[in-house]
Amino acid sequence: MSTILFESPIFGPVISRRLGVSLGINLLPASGKVCTFDCIYCECGLNRERKTDEKMPTVQVVLEQLQACLIRMGQEGRLPDVITFAGNGEPTAHPHFAEIIDGVIALRNRLSPKAKVSVLSNGTQIHKPHIFNALMKVDNNILKLDTVDEDYIERVNRPSSYYRVAEQIEAFKRFNGRVMVQTMFMKGKDFLGRDVDNTSERYVGPWIEAIKAIGPEKVMIYTIDRETPDKELQKAMPQELDAIADRLKREGFDVSVSY
Ligand code: SF4
Repeated sequence: MSTILFESPIFGPVISRRLGVSLGINLLPASGKVCTFDCIYCECGLNRERKTDEKMPTVQVVLEQLQACLIRMGQEGRLPDVITFAGNGEPTAHPHFAEIIDGVIALRNRLSPKAKVSVLSNGTQIHKPHIFNALMKVDNNILKLDTVDEDYIERVNRPSSYYRVAEQIEAFKRFNGRVMVQTMFMKGKDFLGRDVDNTSERYVGPWIEAIKAIGPEKVMIYTIDRETPDKELQKAMPQELDAIADRLKREGFDVSVSY
């Protein structure tokens, strides 16, 4: 299998296309993937191929290992630009996510005050007040919205439980701008041979309307960069990403593009 799993609970630092030198926090087990989506492009592989019985790391283990890592990086004079919750699935699936966020922010303030705290999330848990409140505390609250087309979400993101995009958009709006939207644009076919190109007007136009309704502080658009479980997927073209970004910029949004 060519997809990758990350160490747990701390991995990296890695050079992130979007975030700079990023020290990763993986709240999921190292031996498998735990996610409320099952995206056909997920670099960690498909849920059914990455099942694990291993427990998630405890709050204490996460904070102790982060502290040790930041002390070491400080001694070496190479503190990270960002501490990023990412890794083998959905970080907000950890039962003590909110407590961990508080602890990580405290460690960041003490040991690496210039580092931003980022969370990469699919947004499926933001209707829970404790998750919402925790995400309001981080510097970069980066939530996935690949499209506003329900059928496309079923084909590509494949949520494991109830998910309605209109409700997600309403939930995104409640962050009052303290949210960044990340969107994967790509082409190709899903496992059943169905088209998954979301770069056409059919998808981009309604998505831009949703972005305008949400009012995020930043929009991050990107395309496939690593091996995907679905081998029929293809990158969106740079000129297509640029054209989408230009439309958002004309609406006044801060946009980053990763090719
Ligand atoms: S939301 Fe992220 S971690 Fe979960 S399946 Fe999709 S790409 Fe993978």
